[in-house]
Amino acid sequence: MKQSFGLYIHIPFCRSKCPYCDFYSVRYSDEQAEQYTQALLRALKQAPRKDQPVDSVYFGGGTPVLLGSARLLAILEQAKEQFSLTDDCEITLEANPAAMTLEELRKLREGGFNRISIGVQSAVDQQLRTLGRLHTAAQAKEAVQLCRIAGFHNISVDLMLATPNQTEESIQIFCQTFCPMVEHVSAYLLKIEEGTPFSRRQIERFCPDEEKTADLYLYAVRELEKYGFSQYEISNFAKNGRYSRHNVRYWDCSEYLGIGPAAHSFWNGERRYFERDLESFLKAENPWSLWLLDGKGGSFFEYAMLRLRLTEGLRFEDCAARYPQVDLQPLKQQAEQLQKHGLAVMDEQHLALTVEGFLVSNAAIWRLLESYD
Ligand code: SF4
Repeated sequence: MKQSFGLYIHIPFCRSKCPYCDFYSVRYSDEQAEQYTQALLRALKQAPRKDQPVDSVYFGGGTPVLLGSARLLAILEQAKEQFSLTDDCEITLEANPAAMTLEELRKLREGGFNRISIGVQSAVDQQLRTLGRLHTAAQAKEAVQLCRIAGFHNISVDLMLATPNQTEESIQIFCQTFCPMVEHVSAYLLKIEEGTPFSRRQIERFCPDEEKTADLYLYAVRELEKYGFSQYEISNFAKNGRYSRHNVRYWDCSEYLGIGPAAHSFWNGERRYFERDLESFLKAENPWSLWLLDGKGGSFFEYAMLRLRLTEGLRFEDCAARYPQVDLQPLKQQAEQLQKHGLAVMDEQHLALTVEGFLVSNAAIWRLLESYD
């Protein structure tokens, strides 16, 4: 069977900028949204091709739903014309609870979108206000219900952890409210990115310290398990194996083509990207003239680093097939040390970090792979 690849389409518009956000997005304007749609259609028509099927399409942002169903479906149709989408292709739309109507959702579902990922973040209004989100918890709940009524059977919600003044109770409220309603939860730790308003306001003063953050993370993992979610990656949890196919592709070091300013690709063994520059993308006759090389990709180091984010970890058989020249002994020796401290598990077939290992994943992965850099 032919290898498949994934398609990522970046929609760089938001109604307003959340104070912690470092993703590339600009304030929405209808005029630019229309110009951008045309630029994406041009980019898709001229996109590099591969004689391989596409099994996941992901519209991320930004806030993609702001483009409206007509534009989003025109872009999806162009993607279908350019590439060969599999019958079971997972087609995801990132959405914001403050920007969704039932009518629009129905059109998107009928037009082919079959997975929706909603940026809920919290079920406590006070925390949502602190995060600068435009929705309330009640609106987020209603948004999930609307998605279900519109026919979405694969719904994901985001939960943000380690936010200012967050408590176990607020995580419990989130789980009580949303876990029975959805198939997937992404639970990310808030990271204060340099240059954001949160960084300028030194918001970390109000955030849980390292020890409390670890407690909140472990609490969230346990709560999500209670509701039937299995952890499959550091920050991702799914019921009944409904993993995000698109994101698993990143962690499996598989190929994907990213289109739009700030979108990254792993394509023909190379890492490539578009700069965070909407204006240039809008003006370009051929947007691929702006596609920049970021060097070779897919080394053993990179593969192992990404796979170790997954609870499944590294399968030694896969490593040997993919990198026959790599000696796994140094890795296994380091893994034995981590195992003694409860940070990793290893048997004949595989090596994976434990939940405690995930808490110190950067240091643990570095330790495992230091002789392969
Ligand atoms: S809605 Fe999402 S992409 Fe837009 S500013 Fe907020 S966090 Fe960033």
